[in-house]
Amino acid sequence: MIEVVPEGCLWDLGEPTIVDSDAQPDDVTSDVLIVGAGFTGLWTAFYLQELAPHLSITILEKHWVGFGASGRNGGWASALLHMSVQSLVTQHGAETTRSTFATMNAAVDEIVGHGRAWGIGDTISKGGWMQLAHGRSQFERLEEQNRTAEQLGITEVIGTLMGSDDARSKVSTRSCVGGLFNENCAALHPGTFVRTLGSEVRRRGAKIVEGVSVLAIEPGGVLTDRGPIRAPIVLRATEAFTASMTRMRRRIAPLYSMMVATEPLPRDVIDAIIHPSRPTFNDSRHMIVYGQRTPDDRIAFGGRGAPYHMGSRISPNFDHDQNVAAMLVSTLRDMFPVLSQHRFTHHWGGPLGAPRDWHCSVQFDPATGLGHAGGYVGDGVTTTNVSARALVDLVLGRDTPLSHLPWVGHRNRIWEPEPVRWVAINALTRLAGMADARENVSGRRARRIEWLLGRVLGH
Ligand SMILES: Cc1cc2nc3c(=O)[nH]c(=O)nc-3n(C[C@H](O)[C@H](O)[C@H](O)COP(=O)(O)OP(=O)(O)OC[C@H]3O[C@@H](n4cnc5c(N)ncnc54)[C@H](O)[C@@H]3O)c2cc1C
Repeated sequence: MIEVVPEGCLWDLGEPTIVDSDAQPDDVTSDVLIVGAGFTGLWTAFYLQELAPHLSITILEKHWVGFGASGRNGGWASALLHMSVQSLVTQHGAETTRSTFATMNAAVDEIVGHGRAWGIGDTISKGGWMQLAHGRSQFERLEEQNRTAEQLGITEVIGTLMGSDDARSKVSTRSCVGGLFNENCAALHPGTFVRTLGSEVRRRGAKIVEGVSVLAIEPGGVLTDRGPIRAPIVLRATEAFTASMTRMRRRIAPLYSMMVATEPLPRDVIDAIIHPSRPTFNDSRHMIVYGQRTPDDRIAFGGRGAPYHMGSRISPNFDHDQNVAAMLVSTLRDMFPVLSQHRFTHHWGGPLGAPRDWHCSVQFDPATGLGHAGGYVGDGVTTTNVSARALVDLVLGRDTPLSHLPWVGHRNRIWEPEPVRWVAINALTRLAGMADARENVSGRRARRIEWLLGRVLGH
């Protein structure tokens, strides 16, 4: 019998406090309209305010600030990108890859710095990221990553390979045989962060209109469920939800990531398994998992494996999946057996945006005034900050290093029509699970599946 975990998002802060929801289209006259009040939309407004304070900005949000992935994620502000290091080097060269990761590393500090300045530093800890190896095959994969980085001359983007004792001094799992430690990651409370960012943006003069749905975007404005709103510049920051907009269904696939959280653990219990500096952790399995020690000493743990829904559908009903929750609970208890004596109190999830080529993108066309940023898959907490700054540079016509990032101007391939998309994505999810299940049986067979995963995912 599977253990049913109570549904509800750990990061939920109750009713939103930022509401301009009574605004009517006629009230809105702005130089810039931003669609979506997640990290991308809010950071874009924030940096526009900093660099071009004369511009008036309105953010249109269908639900409330942080409703999307930004308010529900694993809270890893890491320097990770979903594009693999190898594919970045192949497409853009080693030097660009190195400078891109330097930008990502600096962005982690930028985020932490702002959080501290806004008075929410106690919810943030830059304790790094521990990629654990559970078993020989996983360790070999880490060694391979390390070798590749050495060959490419970019070891600094990968981190430090550690043996079992050093890895366990950060995160002590039952079957850890080593790991890769990267110092460029902060654990944060996504709900607190996104709400605070929203308040900051509003305090500096932007209007955030919640509860308004944008139905279509065109040069010169948007059509909303309350009527048209005109503006010379319109920036889309709708990530996975883009698929629900007119003529956008094949642009991005909403993939669901799910999370569970334990009750607050006694200090001696949590200190014995996760260092007080709160390093985030995962391991090297194919089916992605990720965890953090929260500010109140819980473990919040997430992973993929939920089904993709035909037609790129998104629904509140998909935000929970007790089968995936059970898988997460048993994976985490397998890592930390002491958790069998503790309750799991929360289970939630949400859609993240996967472009067909797994490559994020920032674009702005000065001729139409239209732009967007997104496609971060599961690595958006820091990438939204970098992408928003790049988008702002494009809007303001500034030629900066950010405006030359590998994903600026990148055009994504569109997804295949249904039912091919449904078959392919769900088959991939199963393949990832199979590769992990067979890993301990046959390394060669696992490598064949891994090769296939790489081919189909195109990264
Ligand atoms: C469970 C989960 C765990 C994750 N964990 C991590 C992690 O630990 N680290 C990491 O780096 N990344 C993680 N991610 C990914 C990361 O959260 C996202 O990449 C990032 O938050 C995307 O931000 P965004 O602002 O682009 O999109 P979102 O936060 O999804 O915001 C989009 C907003 O647009 C609004 N919107 C959509 N359509 C419309 C419309 N038509 N009209 C008006 N408004 C609209 C939505 O309501 C939403 O508020 C995770 C994602 C999930 C789901």
